[in-house]
Amino acid sequence: MLADLEAAERYGFDYIDLRSDTLDAYLRSSAPEDLAEWFRSHRLKPHTYSALMFFNWRRSRADRQELLDEVRRLIPVFNSIDLKTIAVIPSANIAEHATVGEIEDDAVVMLNKIADLCEPHGISVALEFIGSGAFTINRFDTAYDIVSTVNRTSVGIALDVFHFHAMGSDCKDLAESDGRKIINLHLNDVEHLPIGAPYLTDEKRLWPGDGCVDKARLAEALHASGFDTSTVPAAVEVFRPEYYELSVDENVSTAYRKTKSFVEQYLTEQ
Ligand code: ZN
Repeated sequence: MLADLEAAERYGFDYIDLRSDTLDAYLRSSAPEDLAEWFRSHRLKPHTYSALMFFNWRRSRADRQELLDEVRRLIPVFNSIDLKTIAVIPSANIAEHATVGEIEDDAVVMLNKIADLCEPHGISVALEFIGSGAFTINRFDTAYDIVSTVNRTSVGIALDVFHFHAMGSDCKDLAESDGRKIINLHLNDVEHLPIGAPYLTDEKRLWPGDGCVDKARLAEALHASGFDTSTVPAAVEVFRPEYYELSVDENVSTAYRKTKSFVEQYLTEQ
């Protein structure tokens, strides 16, 4: 993991989102304090933990308790490296045919429980809706209703361009939202495939600017919402198998170049 962090710093990134599997693997052989020491001696800073999986629609008390115990385990790690945001991912492939209303009510309760634990430590919670029919929260409008009902400044949305596109979230909903509730922005692009197609998966992601997403329209909606690009750093998130074939240097330098040009072209106020 440290080699990846070194590369991210070398090619110009200011922040890094820490993948849960990567962090867990690191912590099996090192202490959180070792990672804290690395960040203290480098310019690169941790931004978001990505992610706490399947936070909602846990049907038993034991299942809910297990999730909250995981949050309690993570908080001291976040505190030691001064990480301030945790992304939470909704549950998928649930057995019940739950309505949107039932899913929203449950998610509000769970987000409040998570925020009760995180907020005293200055840690925010970012709900990331996942653009796939399998997921309980898969569109911007649903995620926005949930965080609006929660109504805490420490609870917001992670807007991932791929997920926004992949279930046909509406730029009109985004434009009419309060952009201050968008606390994470994941940049990428996607091949031109039918909305809702089972093969429209993470593997079809492309570098920001390289695919079919209507970037100008999305950027216009983000600006209309009052989203502040100066306070929310843009993260690049691509899970394309071909990109994993690249060397770390080529991968990270391309990610930086494509993200920077996307931000300059679409997100920086003219
Ligand atoms: Zn994402």
